[in-house]
Amino acid sequence: MNILVINCGSSSLKFQLIDAKSEQLIAKGLCERIGIDGSQITYTPTQGEKVETVTPMKDHTDAIRLVLGALTDEKCGVVKSLKEIGAVGHRIVHGGENFASSTLITEEVVEAIRQCNDLAPLHNPANLIGIAACRELMPDTPMVAVFDTAFHQTMPQEAYLYGIPYEYYEKYKVRRYGFHGTSHSYVSRQAAKLLGREYEELKLIVCHLGNGASVSAVREGKCVDTSMGLTPLEGLIMGTRSGDLDPAIIEFLCNKEGKSVGEILGELNKKSGVLGLSGGFSSDFRDLEEQFHKDADFAVRTMKAFAYRVAKYIGAYTAALNGVDAICFTAGLGENSGFIREKICAYLGYLGITLDPEANQKRGQDIDITTPQSRTRVLVIPTNEELAIARETYGLVK
Ligand code: AMP
Repeated sequence: MNILVINCGSSSLKFQLIDAKSEQLIAKGLCERIGIDGSQITYTPTQGEKVETVTPMKDHTDAIRLVLGALTDEKCGVVKSLKEIGAVGHRIVHGGENFASSTLITEEVVEAIRQCNDLAPLHNPANLIGIAACRELMPDTPMVAVFDTAFHQTMPQEAYLYGIPYEYYEKYKVRRYGFHGTSHSYVSRQAAKLLGREYEELKLIVCHLGNGASVSAVREGKCVDTSMGLTPLEGLIMGTRSGDLDPAIIEFLCNKEGKSVGEILGELNKKSGVLGLSGGFSSDFRDLEEQFHKDADFAVRTMKAFAYRVAKYIGAYTAALNGVDAICFTAGLGENSGFIREKICAYLGYLGITLDPEANQKRGQDIDITTPQSRTRVLVIPTNEELAIARETYGLVK
């Protein structure tokens, strides 16, 4: 069965068509600038040439119409008709406490997702638009919602409650939710495969280090803690997000700078993290790594602070798990930068980690980068959120 995976943003839409049985990618693409001048669709069939078309898309329904048109196109299409698409898997950012697993989409599910809009005002409404557009164009095709938050719903209360008046949890569900759950779930399962051990017997720490970054602690196949919170702003220092800070800083800066809470929060989301720490140089770790090797002060302080924060979380989660079998690195930076992995692991002598320098330079494969003598394993596992969504979707519709 072919599964169409849709990841809808406010003005963009990413898609992949995946053969669920062989788990092969058939085609993928991206619609950009939806509802804005200069909209463009990029479509890449696995066995063909990339096609880029600038064409108006007034809304997401237009975008999905173009996606379905490309997939069934006589010349560059990969299926003969929409009947060859067995199901659609939608990535949904926030499922609140309503969803602890993926689910078939019904009217009730749409309504329950809408109830979480407050918790992810930029993302959930866009995800819902994607669902509505697909349902309009493919009314008979089953659809599944796969939530970024679901994997973390197994966290115990002591991990998800904040130390604030309990009534805020009761009234507004203010608590830790966590994100990147599809990635944490996929990578931790792959880790068990790579280690040749049962998922349910392992203690794992997964470091998803991309532009957005988070860490999770997974015990016996269940998430017990994660670094992102009510929103994705908490936790690690990220590309442009600050991660953890003293909440009093917000009022302090509002007073000093004469800015509103909204303005400061905008800065904490978009102008902070490694971009902010490097004095505005770059949010891209590749640029910073290059400057680190040239001893540029701004790059040295930024990379050190980034690596230290990750190591601090690994320490905390080792305590939460009462030990750890393997630390897994994934996402853009985690998968590709031997340099940052080495910097982080340099803090972890107490875990008896010895990296294999040659393995640490390899890319694009699931790999153990420690020596046989290492007391704790360190793994690099390329994440594949689309495949994870396709698996979840297939599991529910087959
Ligand atoms: P993601 O959000 O997972 O796409 O990751 C994006 C981040 O990964 C960007 O900040 C990139 O700089 C970083 N990244 C990608 N490739 C590399 C690399 N070879 N070395 C260092 N960082 C990388």
